[in-house]
Amino acid sequence: MLSPSLARHATSPSAGPLRLAIIGSGPSGFYSAARVLSALKDHPQRNDVCVHMYERLPVPNGLVRWGVAPDHLEVKNVENRFAEVARDPRFRFFGNVLVTAGDQASSSSSASSGYQYPHALHLPLRDLAQHYTHLLLSYGCSQSRLLGIPGSHPGELRNVHSALDFVNWYNGHPAAHDEEILAKEPWRQVELGEDARQMSVIGAGNVALDVARIVLRASSPSTAAARDELASSDVPESVLEHLSASRIAQVDINARRGPAQAAFTNKELREMMALPGVGFQGVDAELISRAEADVAQQEEEQRQKAKQEAQSNSPEAAEEAAQIAGQLRVKKRLLSLLAKGSKTKAKEADKTWGLNFFRAPKAFVGAAGSSPARLERIHWTATSLPGGQGATAAASVTANTSGPQAPVWGNEPTATPSSQHQSGESAASTAASGSTLGGAPAITVPNSTFETKADIVVSSVGYRGAPLDSSACSSSSSSSSSSPGPLGIPWDASRGVIPNASGRVTLGHGGALLPNVYVSGWLARGPVGVIASTMHDAYAVADAILEDYTTSQSHQGTSVSGLADKALVQAPRKERVPDALRDAAARGAKQVVEWAAWQRLDEEERRRGKELGKVREKVVSVREMLRIMDG
Ligand code: FAD
Ligand code: NAP
Repeated sequence: MLSPSLARHATSPSAGPLRLAIIGSGPSGFYSAARVLSALKDHPQRNDVCVHMYERLPVPNGLVRWGVAPDHLEVKNVENRFAEVARDPRFRFFGNVLVTAGDQASSSSSASSGYQYPHALHLPLRDLAQHYTHLLLSYGCSQSRLLGIPGSHPGELRNVHSALDFVNWYNGHPAAHDEEILAKEPWRQVELGEDARQMSVIGAGNVALDVARIVLRASSPSTAAARDELASSDVPESVLEHLSASRIAQVDINARRGPAQAAFTNKELREMMALPGVGFQGVDAELISRAEADVAQQEEEQRQKAKQEAQSNSPEAAEEAAQIAGQLRVKKRLLSLLAKGSKTKAKEADKTWGLNFFRAPKAFVGAAGSSPARLERIHWTATSLPGGQGATAAASVTANTSGPQAPVWGNEPTATPSSQHQSGESAASTAASGSTLGGAPAITVPNSTFETKADIVVSSVGYRGAPLDSSACSSSSSSSSSSPGPLGIPWDASRGVIPNASGRVTLGHGGALLPNVYVSGWLARGPVGVIASTMHDAYAVADAILEDYTTSQSHQGTSVSGLADKALVQAPRKERVPDALRDAAARGAKQVVEWAAWQRLDEEERRRGKELGKVREKVVSVREMLRIMDG
């Protein structure tokens, strides 16, 4: 619901045209568009309102299509809501348009490895911006956070993959199926191989569970029920064939902290425990009971605090403490789920999975022979929490928060209570992630080292945002530059976000506002949060756009680029689309696709799916997508 004052402004006849360009067609882009359009549906100048969405792929929906696991089809129903937005005549979708920082784009792209959207029209932000009054950046976080340890660099060893690449593969993202890239960089090809029996996943978030679940469901030997669920989903046939032929029978998930700090959520853990024919190996009972005692103690402390704060008339502090106590209760349920274990007991199971706590990878080591060598072993460091479970004298080592390239300890622990914006169970698992709730998450400290054998590694230690032009699907490290990008858009290299105050882009944290430029979704807060929390954030950013639009007349007749760069001032014209788009279409060089074209592809994918008894059969090549879209 809009606030009454915003709703009043939204129908005020004095506001001029609102031309909003949205970069990225994931949940944050669509939910922002939905909010803006519905708030202005009774606007007297509603025909002066337009929302144009730019997407680098010919298909919309971002991680709903490329991230959400294929056996979570119900989650993908949000696509229907997005399609509703697209039916609004004031909305237009421009797919197959990669928005770039500018001219340097082409040169830097050709030098980079990985998928660089070769079929897309590359459109500099500066050219686009001059046609709009407001700009919303919602292009997500599409790079992998790197471990930075020996053997983990892209292409260094075979059978070492990032979760981003692995998820892209099973979800049919063109970046993981592009034949030219795979010919040039064959190590990118996911090959589970006949010899591989075991997979190690680094990181204990929901993406780690997704990866483990998909492999355990599909690999052979398998119960028919588990595999059927995947067979009727939208996993591309080529992937399903490969997964089903794989003989992985053991998946180990590895966390650098303890059970109380696991980043995955209760619902996803329950799903793992219920997998037909798959057994959980269990967690050391003492480890669980110590974690339970810790969490129970913290919960009690928070309850007491809530009471005291209420008595001393601090309702906000009381509410916060009560919320944390609630989250700790959810965390206790997670620990009891871990203690209870799986429906199928490990010794009766075809396949098993395990959770190893308090270990961090130190190096991935390859077998002698082929080049690049094939993964053979993992060197680990045993870890502990400072002052917490298993703490030793080494616990006095200070936290390393030096960012994603730092070796061994890698990045700072990922989740903080304030960064998740989740509710219920999902919030709890992350809010409770530090040994001291409400404070900074505890950081693991190194103890002894040891090694294990490994057939395949998937590093699932989080995603990472990047400035424009570094945002293509490359596994290379993201730019550490914090110098302003096009239109003076800043970049916070340490947090991997565009600095902002409630979605309004600022020149550095706490700095001046960059007028009429906004950011939402993962690009604004970092790669955490589910679709529901992304939606709430997107609504708040849309409200900020509406508020600025309706309370200030300064934007009238001024383009976004004009606000950021006087040289480019130009009045935005009604129904005009960027010249680069028109010219490209006229030259026939690059095909820019609109919503109707996506609908043609959507129908074709569903038709092919129906023939195979599944929801849809995704087209994985952009060339083929464009051919189908062309009619
Ligand atoms: P995105 O969804 O990433 O959208 C960004 C869009 O911008 C993409 O379409 C991208 O192609 C486009 N883009 C990028 N760069 C450019 C450019 N330069 N020019 C034009 N377009 C560009 N949440 C749930 O609630 N349930 C789940 O089951 C679930 N599963 C997940 C599984 C995985 C593997 C991951 C990574 C996340 C999952 N999430 C899930 C979280 C959810 O996907 C995110 O909260 C949400 O997608 C974030 O939305 P966004 O719009 O910020 O980013
Ligand atoms: P995440 O929840 O942040 O988890 C990342 C994991 O990697 C954490 O366990 C983290 O441990 C670990 N890690 C980070 N750096 C590491 C390092 N250097 N060495 C070892 N371990 C390291 O990220 P995610 O799993 O990518 O998920 C992203 C978001 O999408 C989350 O909000 C998630 O809930 C959401 N999502 C939701 C669903 C769903 O709802 N079904 C599915 C998938 C994803 P520390 O805690 O110690 O940092």
